[in-house]
Amino acid sequence: MQIINSAKDLDKFLQQSKEINFVPTMGNLHAGHLSLVSEANKYNGITLVSIFVNPLQFAPNEDLDIYPRTEKKDLIKLENANCDAVFFPEPNFAEGAKKLYANSELSKKLCGISRPHFFHGIISILNHFFQLIKPKNVFFGFKDYQQFLIVKDFLDKSKLDTEIHGVPIVREPDGLAMSSRNNLLNPDQRLIASELSVILKNTAQQIHTRNLEYLKVEAIKKLEELDFDVDYFSFCNSNTLEEIDEFEPNTLLAVAVNLGGVRLIDNFLIK
Ligand code: AMP
Repeated sequence: MQIINSAKDLDKFLQQSKEINFVPTMGNLHAGHLSLVSEANKYNGITLVSIFVNPLQFAPNEDLDIYPRTEKKDLIKLENANCDAVFFPEPNFAEGAKKLYANSELSKKLCGISRPHFFHGIISILNHFFQLIKPKNVFFGFKDYQQFLIVKDFLDKSKLDTEIHGVPIVREPDGLAMSSRNNLLNPDQRLIASELSVILKNTAQQIHTRNLEYLKVEAIKKLEELDFDVDYFSFCNSNTLEEIDEFEPNTLLAVAVNLGGVRLIDNFLIK
């Protein structure tokens, strides 16, 4: 596996490479990230993973400084996952990124309400990566469903010949969606966190028999009783993220909560 530590070396590497299948990450890798790598490996060409904690997507009061960084372990996991190359950009990489704005309709909903800077920071850094790498395929997890839609919208409107692929959410055995932030939970919080997906799943199961407002109120009540601070709990259209009050096929149930200061997101697509 090739390890690339600068944009200059990446450029050299790309000159000798075939089609690139690109998996952007912020590191602290887990089986969710590795499922993107294994999906990328199914396509012809080189699987390239980037590891970069993107400062542009964090506001000053957010958790950039404590975001878990585990580079040595990440490299071992990627080697075992048959990744071809890893790109660790220089710390000042983001300074070269042109400031872009994500789709205004999609980015102001769900996570965009409490994190208005977030998706613009993501699109700005991804565009910087994409312009350097010109990937044939890129891979994103449905765990960050809104991010997937926003990147898809960006690529659809760009001149890049890049195809986006969405990969299902990988969960812990107790149902908690895998996330680097799960490592910031203490053991008691980790136990409580497992209830999040249980409540979402129960809610999803009742969708044909109860009205959505009732389900939402009940679910928020349960979450708050468990000490989750609910940022949003939404039934929405899975293409536009527009709130809905009656079930429609492919309803997205999306939630963001804070537990002891740790932000967790999850979603279920209800066919
Ligand atoms: P991150 O390192 O959190 O920026 O995530 C990098 C990529 O991995 C994004 O496309 C995420 O959606 C994806 N990802 C993170 N967690 C999971 C998961 N539990 N299942 C599937 N994909 C995931």
